[in-house]
Amino acid sequence: MYRPAPGAANPFRCQTCGNLQLRAFATMYAQGTSTAVSMKGFFFKHAYQKTWRQTQMAKLCAPPRKKAFWPALLFLVIAAGGTFAVYVGRMPTAVSSRVMVFCFLRGWLGLYLGMYHLYWNLRYFPQRMTEYHRLQYCPRCGTVTKV
Ligand SMILES: [Zn+2]
Repeated sequence: MYRPAPGAANPFRCQTCGNLQLRAFATMYAQGTSTAVSMKGFFFKHAYQKTWRQTQMAKLCAPPRKKAFWPALLFLVIAAGGTFAVYVGRMPTAVSSRVMVFCFLRGWLGLYLGMYHLYWNLRYFPQRMTEYHRLQYCPRCGTVTKV
């Protein structure tokens, strides 16, 4: 770890109590979740136990997440499914036209959501990640210092 010369202003110092033993959020998160992440298993079980086993501290120190694409994909799948149902044509015209409108809106919503999340991941995610890596936690007094 980087340690500046004595007397120099130490950025890795607690603003409140002057403690030099600060811990990075990323380090604490890694320590808190190491047991959970190493576990293998069926996806849902894995996800469940991962959440369950995470220590409270690790939860607080969780890094920013990228936006997921599955909601957008879900909308598109619903839209495609509805359109297919109309195309197969087993429903009255009054119903099918409504389904078409519904699917049309869902489709556009899905596309919009997907584009927005893609944009967010490219534009804002790196910033969030940089900010996150500057956060230091003081174990003595609990102050979060940004270096
Ligand atoms: Zn402190």
